[in-house]
Amino acid sequence: MTDNTHIAIIGAGIAGLTAALRAREAGFTPVLFEKSRGPGGRLASKRTQDGASVDMGAQFFTIRNSRFKALLADYAGEEALQLWDATLWHENTQGAVGSFHQALRYVGTPRMTAVTRALSANFAINTGIRITAVTPEPDGWTLTTDEGPQGPFARVIITTPPEQARNLVAESVVASLGLEAFRMLPCWTLALRFEQALTPGFDGMQLAHECLGWVARNTSKPQRGAGEWWVLHANSTWSESHRDTASSEVAAAMTTAFRQRFDIQQPASDYLVHRWLYARPAGGPTPGFLSTAEGGIGLCGDWLAGGRVEGAFESADALAAQWFGQP
Ligand SMILES: Cc1cc2nc3c(=O)[nH]c(=O)nc-3n(C[C@H](O)[C@H](O)[C@H](O)COP(=O)(O)OP(=O)(O)OC[C@H]3O[C@@H](n4cnc5c(N)ncnc54)[C@H](O)[C@@H]3O)c2cc1C
Repeated sequence: MTDNTHIAIIGAGIAGLTAALRAREAGFTPVLFEKSRGPGGRLASKRTQDGASVDMGAQFFTIRNSRFKALLADYAGEEALQLWDATLWHENTQGAVGSFHQALRYVGTPRMTAVTRALSANFAINTGIRITAVTPEPDGWTLTTDEGPQGPFARVIITTPPEQARNLVAESVVASLGLEAFRMLPCWTLALRFEQALTPGFDGMQLAHECLGWVARNTSKPQRGAGEWWVLHANSTWSESHRDTASSEVAAAMTTAFRQRFDIQQPASDYLVHRWLYARPAGGPTPGFLSTAEGGIGLCGDWLAGGRVEGAFESADALAAQWFGQP
């Protein structure tokens, strides 16, 4: 017999952790599976050899939603995040540069993953386990993994990007939920270290450039450690057209683009590069979340709620409200 309170959650990013916390608040037992070594997903940081911590995924997040604010206050605590008091610029397609829109922007401290680490402190997450299929059995849902089957579970929440979610469920579920309508865009991310501080007058800038979409002085964020580290994002068109280019070539091209655009004379002394295949939603519908008619499978994540960290929270919070009731 399936225990009706047993819920499987695939993915331990902000959406998966929000869903797990809401499920637990409602008296269910969430069991989380995460393919990576730890929680966080696209709220990602990397340690560098010189001891810095570089944000390779989300650059900052907003806390406009009062329920998100309450969840962070209840479960993350004050030490896990801080305001990033940054000077941010925006370049429009005519090349005019102005201030980025005003907002309170937060970052995890001492690194981005501090937020998801804190949110996950009360769960034993099954990390390093990739789910390859979600299958209905007479006694509930079974998850297929390389280490053997898991379950049965009364319900399953999938928080992976849509391209990965489509591979987990039957074609009939893909069709009934309209999953083919969702697509994510890639993003090449490069972190560069310089020996001397760069002083372009801003901490972050959104660009209308043929290669670069965003550059930020990682070092300007609180508690990021030593070294002059910058994070660069290629825009989605460039990332898409260089999807299969070798990472060393991508790093060289992005470095040259950055140095030329800001007239930087000194060479970079170290770099980290990462390709996000599924970085941001490509537009399309924003239903908030998806759930099968029988309520056995639910999907949530940023791609269902306009992208961004706060969108991921709102998507999971809305699915949880429908499935478990509003706390
Ligand atoms: C380069 C970049 C910059 C960004 N900048 C910003 C920003 O400045 N501000 C902002 O608000 N947002 C930003 N975002 C978006 C933000 O990071 C996301 O909106 C948010 O983190 C998504 O959370 P999620 O839980 O929906 O998905 P994810 O964080 O992607 O979580 C999904 C999880 O599922 C796991 N998973 C996938 N497949 C499987 C499987 N088969 N089995 C088990 N586990 C699996 C993954 O490992 C991952 O941990 C950025 C994203 C990128 C990539």
